[in-house]
Amino acid sequence: MPLDLTTLSFLDRPVTKREGIEILKRDHYRCQYCGLDGLASFENALAMSVDFVIPRARKGKKDPSNLVACCRPCNMIKGTRSYRSFDEAKEYVLKRRKELRRAWEGTTPQRSAQSAKAEAEPTPKVQAEKSGSVISSSPLSLRQR
Ligand SMILES: [Zn+2]
Repeated sequence: MPLDLTTLSFLDRPVTKREGIEILKRDHYRCQYCGLDGLASFENALAMSVDFVIPRARKGKKDPSNLVACCRPCNMIKGTRSYRSFDEAKEYVLKRRKELRRAWEGTTPQRSAQSAKAEAEPTPKVQAEKSGSVISSSPLSLRQR
């Protein structure tokens, strides 16, 4: 483990640093939603945290079976919605990531031209504005030029 995990903050979570590290080790420091490799770079390491699959707000337990390694973007996207299982949560997070990516690709002319060529789909901008609150509160919205 080449990284100093004391730089990772679990302080705002009801998981101790030791518990968090156990979960990250178990999951090989990879986000269990998008697969981000927490060992690949310092930036990735900083992005890693531990997620309650069933959120605390929904009475999810602090039990290894309910905890997974998770990058902060996926954690933010996942939010505190209710999920019946990890698979359901993962499906939702990956779907939202796809939508966000499309919206992001539509924010610069070069990118929308690229994605139009690649996917031959209408620009996703309108759809993205309709579909959720994450975009408006996300740094992605700052990328518009
Ligand atoms: Zn992730």
